[in-house]
Order: sequence, then structure tokens, then C-alpha cells
Amino acid sequence: MIPIAEPLLGKDELKNIKEAIESGWVSSKGKFIKEFEDNFSKFCDVKFGVTTSSGTTALHLALSALGIKSGDEVIVPDLTFIATANTVVYCNAKPTFIDVHPDYWCLDPEKITEKITPKTKAIIPVHLYGHPCDMDIIMEIAEENNLYVIEDAAEAHGSEYKGKKVGSIGHVSCYSFFANKVITTGEGGMCLTDNEELAEKMKLLRDHGMNHEKRYWYDIIGFNYRMTNLQAALGVAQLTKIDKFINKKRQIANWYYKGLIDLADQELITLQPEKKWAKSIYWMYSILLNEKLGISRERFLETLKNNGIDNRPFFYAIHLLPPYKCSNSTLMVAEDISSRGLNLPSSTVLEEKDIKYINKIIKKIVDEVKK
Ligand SMILES: *Cc1c(COP(=O)(O)O)cnc(C)c1O
Repeated sequence: MIPIAEPLLGKDELKNIKEAIESGWVSSKGKFIKEFEDNFSKFCDVKFGVTTSSGTTALHLALSALGIKSGDEVIVPDLTFIATANTVVYCNAKPTFIDVHPDYWCLDPEKITEKITPKTKAIIPVHLYGHPCDMDIIMEIAEENNLYVIEDAAEAHGSEYKGKKVGSIGHVSCYSFFANKVITTGEGGMCLTDNEELAEKMKLLRDHGMNHEKRYWYDIIGFNYRMTNLQAALGVAQLTKIDKFINKKRQIANWYYKGLIDLADQELITLQPEKKWAKSIYWMYSILLNEKLGISRERFLETLKNNGIDNRPFFYAIHLLPPYKCSNSTLMVAEDISSRGLNLPSSTVLEEKDIKYINKIIKKIVDEVKK
């Protein structure tokens, strides 16, 4: 089976892990934590990094530090990984779902303003599958309405918006280092911000809210969302290869593009877009099956699997999931894209022959439907 996403781990990772173990610092003290925070924030052109135990805890930490609380509303795209919405609920606030843009599948900025209420406190743009959101308009709306912007960049390490790294544009940004993300620490995450006070608040909340001067004294209720030195050791090694990983992802996207463009020209499928103002890292190469193709996604995915090609359907539109269930006619684009989209194998370990094989199988499936 050609895997959908597989981490590339090697000698450097092993060397750092060994060093961390030999140092005795296996919990959340030790040299690799600061090194990883410094190096990753520098890579993203942001001043401060605060490591966390996951991308989910990074989002919850950022929202908590910004004071999101019961009664507040937070704007979230309807098409994203569930953690984006769940972390709003962890704060006892309410996610307000916004439709996505039909061209590039991220938060549609044109549809934000109509859903802002006096209770709205923040927007979480998600750079879905590696493609950046249209941040200029989002920041403008946020400024006009006095809202925080928390970038969910869990799928977009190194993606760029008009030449700027995503994650360096909002008030704070959140990353994940889960095994299938661009770089991994096993489980892990990070919040980035240029605001020193906010960074300090996040560090405080990450560590139970314990007073820095007075041990075991707590002025607030915090969490244990710390990353371990072992995880950070992995991250430091992974980060030295991030440019290589990103180039490979873009190369893979190009191989798919070359192999599938004629199907796209016939409007049978839609290829993952890259807007003029965007540099996508193509975290997971994705396509949409168009109605004209005449095959259900379920059958398409099953046939790929039968040919040894792992795959994933797109995330469900969140307003269709039981905890968030509501009928909402303003979320039709998310529903449509969610029902037609799929992710193809995108591991950095893949070679051109693998992608050629996948393209060949996709064409075979299409030919068979047409017969
Ligand atoms: C992966 C992901 C997260 C959560 O990250 P974890 O490290 O798995 O907790 C949040 N948002 C998006 C968009 C993601 O893809």
C-alpha cells in the first residue's frame, strides 16, 4: 500500500533523541525545547514560540490566553479538522461556521462580515491542506471589528501569502507536529506570536498557571500542555530538513498536476488550486471529483485502495457532524467540496514512479466509468 503520509525519520533524529535521553531531561525541561521554539519561530518569521503537547492544545492555549470565554463567538471555517471547532467549545464559547471559497477551499472572506455579532471575539482562518487563506481581507475585517485572528497553520508549515509566511500575519498562530504533518515530533504543537505579553501568558497557562516567583502558587487555572524535551529533540532534527520536505511536497504536486491535467481540462476532476498570491506547501495533494465524472467518491476511493493506493476523503462539513448538527443553507460550498474531495498519497518518501502509478490508476478508473 502506498501510504497517504509517512514521516521521514533518520540518523539526525536518533542522535538528538539519544542526546536528550543521556542528558536525563526527558520531561519538559532541557535544551531542545528552547532550541525548537527559537528555530521554528525564526523559520516562520515570528518573534516568540511556545511549544505545546499537540496542535489541539496549541489552539486551546491561544484561545485561552486571548481570554475567549463563555458567551463569546469565534468564527471558524465549516471545512476544517474538527479540533479547530472543538477548542472553541473547550473555552465554553460558540463556533460560528463560515463557508469556504469555491476556488481554494479556505475561509471565504466575503462571507465573514454578515455573521459577526456583538459577541464575536475572534476569527480562526485555517490554511487548509497547505493553501493559505486570503489574509489581507481577513485582517482588515478583524481590525474593523476589533477581533483577534488566530491562524490555524497545522497543515501549512512554510506556506506563504503574498511572500509572507503564514503564521506570521495573525495575532497568534498554531501549528501541529503530529506524525502526518510537514514535520513531526510524534505528538506536539506550537503557538507563535510577535506579542511578548501574549507569549508569556501562554507559557504561564501551559504550566498550570504557576506563579514564576512562588512555587505551587496559582493565581489562575492553567493546564499541563507542555511538550517534552524528547519531542523537541525530534523537532529540532526535523526542522533542519523542512525546506527539503516542502520542495518535495511541491514536486509531488507537480507530478500529479502533469499526470492529471488533461482530466481536469475535460472537467472530470478539479485539481488542488494555488492562487496567484499563494505558495502552497501541498500538505496533502487533493482533488475533487466532478459530477460529470459519473462515479461516487466511495467507489473511487475503494478502487484506489484495491490498487494499493491509500487515500482519505475530505473532512466533513462540521455543521453536519452530530455535536454541531444544524441545517444551514449558507454553508453549501463547504458541503459540496467536502462531499467530492479526496487526499492522495503525499509523503516526502514517494518517488516519481509512485505518482505516475497513481495517475495511471486514476486514469484507468476514469476510462472504465466512461465505457
Ligand atoms: C492536525 C490539525 C490540528 C490538530 O493537531 P493535533 O496535533 O493532531 O492535535 C488542528 N487543526 C488542523 C487544521 C489540523 O490539520
